[in-house]
Amino acid sequence: MGMLKTTHEIALLRQSANLVAQTLAEVAKHVFPGQETLVLDRIAEEFIQSHGAEPAFKGYGAPSLSPFPYTLCISVNDVVVHGFPGSYTLREGDLVSIDCGVLLNGYFGDSAYTFGVGDLSPEKIRLCTATYEALQLGISAACPHGTVGDIGFAIQRHCEVQGLGVVRDLVGHGIGSKLHETPQIPNFGRPRKGRRLRKGMTLCVEPMINLGTSDVVIDADGWTVRSADGSDSAHYEHMICINSDGSEILTTFEYIEQHITPPYKMNETLTYG
Ligand code: MG
Ligand code: MG
Repeated sequence: MGMLKTTHEIALLRQSANLVAQTLAEVAKHVFPGQETLVLDRIAEEFIQSHGAEPAFKGYGAPSLSPFPYTLCISVNDVVVHGFPGSYTLREGDLVSIDCGVLLNGYFGDSAYTFGVGDLSPEKIRLCTATYEALQLGISAACPHGTVGDIGFAIQRHCEVQGLGVVRDLVGHGIGSKLHETPQIPNFGRPRKGRRLRKGMTLCVEPMINLGTSDVVIDADGWTVRSADGSDSAHYEHMICINSDGSEILTTFEYIEQHITPPYKMNETLTYG
């Protein structure tokens, strides 16, 4: 599949995006202190399968990696991404990033949301707010005739002026009949640099932002990515489609936020785009 999707392909991707958003909302109902993260994984897997789709991450592998064993990536506190669900039970004050992928009718959906468990510390709220805003700013920078660097620059600038660490070792990506397609969408960049964006591109924009260093380390399991200094990390991800005058967000957090209060604060004065 090329980078430019047809109207029919975009319609199918919109369905996959909608299912992944609904799945995260189903999970959201069950995020509370005392919840075992493996239970969240089972809830997501059953929900996806009952909607005629398959979990996209389960069995996903790279040449140097064992296949990812779960439906969700559940990344608590200093875990940036790719955390394993397991026997850990959520605690009041935890930051929990949940990333979900689905494969429906041959097309992938991919979205992530960072939840707060109970009340969060002011620093965790600040981190979630900056990361959510960075996602919105990155999406606002995405338009035909713009570039991949425009997206990265918008995200990087917003976070770095606040002293936050922008993770560079992991990036956003194109999406379609493959989970990860070209182009890569780094969360850093220079304005007007990098590949030109064109109408019909479908992209995952996904800032991964740390309260401390931007450096990350990987656990012995080969998957779990943590901030190198143990600082907290947040991750929000939307699928977008470049259209004739900007972009359309294919995923949504609206379903999630029918069940939980967002861990970020809405800033009325921030101008997007
Ligand atoms: Mg994802
Ligand atoms: Mg992704």
